[in-house]
Amino acid sequence: MANYYDILEVSQNATKDEIKSAFRKKARTLHPDVNKAPDAEEKFKELGKAYETLMDENKRATYDRYGEDGLKNAGFDTNGPFAGGFGDLNDIFNSFFGGFGGFGFGGGSDPNAPQRGDDLRYDVEIDFKEAIFGTTKEIKFDHLELCTECGGTGAQKGTQPVTCPTCHGSGQVQTVTRTPLGAISQITVCPDCHGTGKKVGTPCKACKGYGKVEKEKKIEIKIPAGVDNMSKIRVSGEGDAGTNGGQAGDLYVVLHVKASEYFKRDGLDIYTRLDINPAQAVLGDEVEIETLEGMKSIKIQPGVQSGNTVKIKGAGVPVISRPSQRGDHVIIINVVIPTQPTEEEKQLYRKLYELKGGKKSQETLLNKVKGAFR
Ligand SMILES: [Zn+2]
Ligand SMILES: [Zn+2]
Repeated sequence: MANYYDILEVSQNATKDEIKSAFRKKARTLHPDVNKAPDAEEKFKELGKAYETLMDENKRATYDRYGEDGLKNAGFDTNGPFAGGFGDLNDIFNSFFGGFGGFGFGGGSDPNAPQRGDDLRYDVEIDFKEAIFGTTKEIKFDHLELCTECGGTGAQKGTQPVTCPTCHGSGQVQTVTRTPLGAISQITVCPDCHGTGKKVGTPCKACKGYGKVEKEKKIEIKIPAGVDNMSKIRVSGEGDAGTNGGQAGDLYVVLHVKASEYFKRDGLDIYTRLDINPAQAVLGDEVEIETLEGMKSIKIQPGVQSGNTVKIKGAGVPVISRPSQRGDHVIIINVVIPTQPTEEEKQLYRKLYELKGGKKSQETLLNKVKGAFR
């Protein structure tokens, strides 16, 4: 097996970002759904193994010092991401390329029919309040654009792609395998042109004959008020360029909303807890609390109990695309019994105690309880 760095075509001191980017580029062309060469799946697996190892600092350090055998000796699972079958590796792959409705790969019998480009996925983290009130984010991502040098044909400027000599343009070849049951004829994708039916005589220098180039793109996306964790925003046409004049795929921005230490969110409602002391609970009070829009004053009714709630209507999360309609802010009251009262407080509590009948009333209560169990 080749060196992991060679497989990814990165240097020994490549950063994680460089490794990621290298994986992305190679995975695209080696994925068995696209690449019909017989050894594509094996190569794709090797790529996954190299990627998985080099992205993990511990594994990478071990690999750098002792090689692949060192990984095995150190107890690392060198079967890597496909220990659980090909599916796991596909998960890694899909984390790069969306996985929303699959790729635009394969399938079509006409290799020259327009094919829509791939959808891409981009994960972005936003703050709790940004999700509630909306925001704009500038994002930078890589996608495939049609090569401007060759106009997407993959052929060097001034030349044209020629009909594939192996399949004569059909994109398919017929193979005959001899078996004990006789000759079996099978139609497979042409290994020479990978099903396109065309071959590039002199490949375009800019795109190495692929017809597309990976370009970094910077766009500003508007995140509407009211989005939630894992909400997706579709940016139409910002995925990969299509093939044979097919339209570009879409970019899906997946939002990861940071939790707030103070606010809890459940759908459109916001929950907070308010600690009050027994005197406030008995007498009622007016207190300032933090809301999504700053400090607000709320009334606590006399005789409130722990677990009771106070609602501020319309101070919750806005409905997406209808920001005037909002959920509520629900305040859950929590009566805190003082564990270290001051001397003065103790005196006042003692007074209350006496007022309620002191020891005598407690004894009566105790007798009542005993009576209940007799
Ligand atoms: Zn080109
Ligand atoms: Zn061919």
